[in-house]
Amino acid sequence: MSKAYDIVIVGAGTAGLSAAIYAQRSGKSALVLEELSYGGQIINTPEVANYPGIAKISGFDFAQGLYDQATGLGAVVEFESVTGIENAEGKKIVTTDSNVYEAGAVILATGAKNRPLGMEHEEEWIGSGISYCATCDGAFFKGKEVAVAGGGNTALEDAIFLSGYCSKVYLIHRRNELRGEKHLQEALRKKENVEFVLNVAMKELVGENGLSGVVVTDKESGEDRTINVSGLFIAIGQMPNNGKFENLVALDDAGYIIAGEDCKTNTDGIFAAGDCRTKTVRQLTTAAADGAVAALAACAFLES
Ligand code: NAP
Repeated sequence: MSKAYDIVIVGAGTAGLSAAIYAQRSGKSALVLEELSYGGQIINTPEVANYPGIAKISGFDFAQGLYDQATGLGAVVEFESVTGIENAEGKKIVTTDSNVYEAGAVILATGAKNRPLGMEHEEEWIGSGISYCATCDGAFFKGKEVAVAGGGNTALEDAIFLSGYCSKVYLIHRRNELRGEKHLQEALRKKENVEFVLNVAMKELVGENGLSGVVVTDKESGEDRTINVSGLFIAIGQMPNNGKFENLVALDDAGYIIAGEDCKTNTDGIFAAGDCRTKTVRQLTTAAADGAVAALAACAFLES
């Protein structure tokens, strides 16, 4: 027999857990389904310093606070992978790898996953020199030379973090300008063990049974350079992960769920919150705000 909740939320990141808090506080029962661990992308950020009202907090502690707040209010979090959602006579039927749930409304808060470089050996050497999470894996490279690929906030933060552990950090970026915030750039430039390798294309991952270096090509001179590193941290942004919902809600060309600031999708009773939806700013604050908007919209839908 399927279990019933007012609102089923897919994803226990900042958007999903914020939605659960707002749903429970509005008197609705909320089930949050998460296939990995709660917290979403923020658990990979060593320090959050731009969330209004909280001067400094680790990403992990932030996520823990959200989880404790949502579950303390009565939200149920289950670690199951959603395999499908269908509309059936006004109800939403949410199927996971181990259960079937019934809901009056669904909030998709699936976030986004790390974008790969798409290079030969990249997937094969994850855990053998290739990583997408400096805070998780940085300690394994203590005293070693590593590289970070990317020029956004994540790459800059990763490089700053790794410079505290590693003997040398190469920041490898495809353009001359870095996309990340100026204060992070300045902090990184002050590090003596950081070298900027800019305006290059990644050509090859070198190694036998794991990474021992990368080959990059200078975009101006066309010259190749081999950089010997035992770790490469790839931080080139995220991609949405909404393929399994393509028959339920409209997606844009990049795979994001089409929804405006009201978090409404083209399907009645299905809402999208956080990084998984079409938007220009993807920040912790916007994920939390989406969670609130989507939950209150779902409550209004249930009462309509
Ligand atoms: P991002 O801002 O999208 O930056 C991705 C970087 O990777 C860009 O520099 C991009 O180069 C590069 N890139 C993309 N595809 C590439 C490819 N195929 N090959 C090589 N390089 C590639 O991603 P992010 O740094 O993960 O940040 C995501 C969002 O989270 C942003 O809105 C960011 O501000 C936010 N964030 C905020 C904080 C914070 O405020 N503390 C921390 C982390 C992240 P181009 O510059 O040439 O496009």
